[in-house]
Amino acid sequence: MAQRLLLALLALTLTATASWSARFDDVKVELKTLRGGVHMITGAGGNIGVLTGPDGLLLVDDQFVPLAEKIQAVIAKADPKHGATAPHYVLNTHWHADHTSGNVHFGPRAEVVAHHNVRERLSKIQRLPRKTYQPLPKTALPDVTYQSDMAIHFNGETIRLRHYPNAHTDGDSVVFFVNAQVVHMGDIFFEGRFPFVDLESGGSIQGVIAAIEDVLKRAPKEAIVIPGHGPASNIAGLERYLGMLKETVGLIRSRIAEGASEDDAVNAGLPKKYGWLSWEFISTEKYVRALYRSLVEAPETLR
Ligand SMILES: [Zn+2]
Ligand SMILES: [Zn+2]
Repeated sequence: MAQRLLLALLALTLTATASWSARFDDVKVELKTLRGGVHMITGAGGNIGVLTGPDGLLLVDDQFVPLAEKIQAVIAKADPKHGATAPHYVLNTHWHADHTSGNVHFGPRAEVVAHHNVRERLSKIQRLPRKTYQPLPKTALPDVTYQSDMAIHFNGETIRLRHYPNAHTDGDSVVFFVNAQVVHMGDIFFEGRFPFVDLESGGSIQGVIAAIEDVLKRAPKEAIVIPGHGPASNIAGLERYLGMLKETVGLIRSRIAEGASEDDAVNAGLPKKYGWLSWEFISTEKYVRALYRSLVEAPETLR
């Protein structure tokens, strides 16, 4: 009987694994070459930044494990000389699974680099409203962690990581490819859609705005900007996004000042011109609720 139960459990696990992989069978992984050896990969989950060159590969985020081979294949095609090697570095912009699950594949042979809080969170169970995430295996965890900023010198490029507190989460890094003039924003920037602000993981809309304002001061005008989700953008795109965030935050802030409840704010909605930014994961309602909660619950210093 016990053995039967074991077999049944095993079958269940195998089915679960199979359907998890099947979910990714049809995903098309594509690479776009940007500038100075920096490329952007889209597939499922967060956009990946790639630096290729004589020293080897550096990835910024790595999507989901079942996509790892497809990811490696498009890099090898873009840079036949260096792209077939295992990545030397994997940088994680934050802990979310759609940016870090690939660590299970790439982590054992790479130096995984992230903010301290990313390792903290990936080492423990994480609970979001719709899903619980198990800790990553040790070999998939960040090996090198930092507090406020750090630089990696690789492929003749200076790759600078800067931490932005309480933005999309409490462990966000923005990655600057200094010579190539390319910036990977992680999920501090959602191009062409409302942002997800993960309040459960220490995020706040005020932190997102502060982070973007700081990046705009540091990044050169010609910079190519890789968002966490959506197509590659530029400084003008990031400025437009910041404008939308500030206007919608200002609106919700004034509704709160007038005594509106969270539901009142949802019912009042947002200007029509922003309707197109609603998407399957973050509808206008979800975005307004996140803004409201972020403004009401944030520490005094952030309001
Ligand atoms: Zn994401
Ligand atoms: Zn995220």
